[in-house]
Amino acid sequence: MKTRGLFISVFNKNLYKNTKYDFLKVRITPLNIVSLASGFNGTAKVIDENIHKLNIIEELSDFKPDIVFLSFNTISYNYVKSLCNIIRNFDKNILIVLGGCHASSKPSETLRDTKADIVVVGEGESFIKEGNFKKQRGIVYSKPISNLDDLPMPKWDLIDVNDYDSSRLYAKNNPSCLLESSRGCPHRCYYCNKSVFGYKIRGKTVNRIIEDISSCMSYGFKEFSFADDFFNYNIKRAIDICKKINEMKINISWTLNNGMRVDNVNEELFRSLNKAGCYRTSFGIESGNQKVLDSINKGTKLDQIKNAVELCNKNNILTVGFFIIGLPEDNKETVRETIDFAKKLPLDYIRFSVFMPQVSTELWDLFKDRINKNVNYDDIRYLPNKQLYDHPNLEWNEILEFMDIAYNEFYLRPSYILRRLKTDIFNGYLIDDIKGFLGTKWR
Ligand code: SF4
Repeated sequence: MKTRGLFISVFNKNLYKNTKYDFLKVRITPLNIVSLASGFNGTAKVIDENIHKLNIIEELSDFKPDIVFLSFNTISYNYVKSLCNIIRNFDKNILIVLGGCHASSKPSETLRDTKADIVVVGEGESFIKEGNFKKQRGIVYSKPISNLDDLPMPKWDLIDVNDYDSSRLYAKNNPSCLLESSRGCPHRCYYCNKSVFGYKIRGKTVNRIIEDISSCMSYGFKEFSFADDFFNYNIKRAIDICKKINEMKINISWTLNNGMRVDNVNEELFRSLNKAGCYRTSFGIESGNQKVLDSINKGTKLDQIKNAVELCNKNNILTVGFFIIGLPEDNKETVRETIDFAKKLPLDYIRFSVFMPQVSTELWDLFKDRINKNVNYDDIRYLPNKQLYDHPNLEWNEILEFMDIAYNEFYLRPSYILRRLKTDIFNGYLIDDIKGFLGTKWR
């Protein structure tokens, strides 16, 4: 009889709680768990908690899995502990396997606290491919995948494609799908957790990427977004991907939601992206003060940021700027500079987050003694509901006030509102945008 594997993508809705973008309906296909389940040699079932409320007892009773795989992030840690406990009490013979960013960062602690059978560190697909689960126990270091073309083609019918209908502000055409063209990033930003994909960048061949796109469309997706950390690591390759997408002669829209680096761009790249249907990209800008950027080892310059955003603008690609308030070297002046910098750039959208050091990063090591004793993993979210740490230069209230100031000053400028109205009318999002505006708590 075939082994039965239940694959659960654990999603903590609190991640966005209280943030300005809480109103946004964003449905991101769980690429990681679909990719794992697609390579599983047995009967697989996928549950995406972002879409369906998980009733674990019902799933265990109905599907009768031999193995349960859970992929989760730090904020879901305590919830995953309780799920493991329920599974263990339901049937002690079910093999519990944990993976993802948090499990890869803190494998010993995860194994000890959850009493799972296996904690996989790294890319889970090679662990799934090897298949001899029953013989393994404890922490398993999964081999990095050197040739990404070896990854299984995602079997998108493991989820209901029609569930992935997001707000028009997130996806122009629905349903939309997450794909990946590369994994890894050679940079060493001190706040970034690299425990799953690592520093070695690996790219799929252009042909395989085109196969992924054709395949997701055959399942009914109308748009896609590349999840890559560094899509433009090789400009020529990025342009080749665009050319091939053009040759497909399909009418598909796509985005680069995880972002591109600003220090490896040129005009031809943005022209090609636009021609191939890419209509929005994000940039991890983080700060508008060069010393703060250098202190987190970002490796980018303010004029490179300006150049990249302006080139996007010129080539009709919408831009999202990600910023962080409360980085260790921040003070009142640098945060003010960051807000002013955001306003000077022709960005279409911004997202400001309160700095929270992530486990297994340089900034975690630097800040861990400043983290308040009553903070636990549940509190690591974009807008925390309690004071997380004692910042060396900023009061906690000042950090929160700056968050409000950043959003209000950026989005409520008459010049911005006018520009946004024009973009909305051009793209047909006006109604959704007005709803979003009215649904946002500006103070
Ligand atoms: S933040 Fe982005 S550029 Fe920096 S190390 Fe992480 S993935 Fe690379």
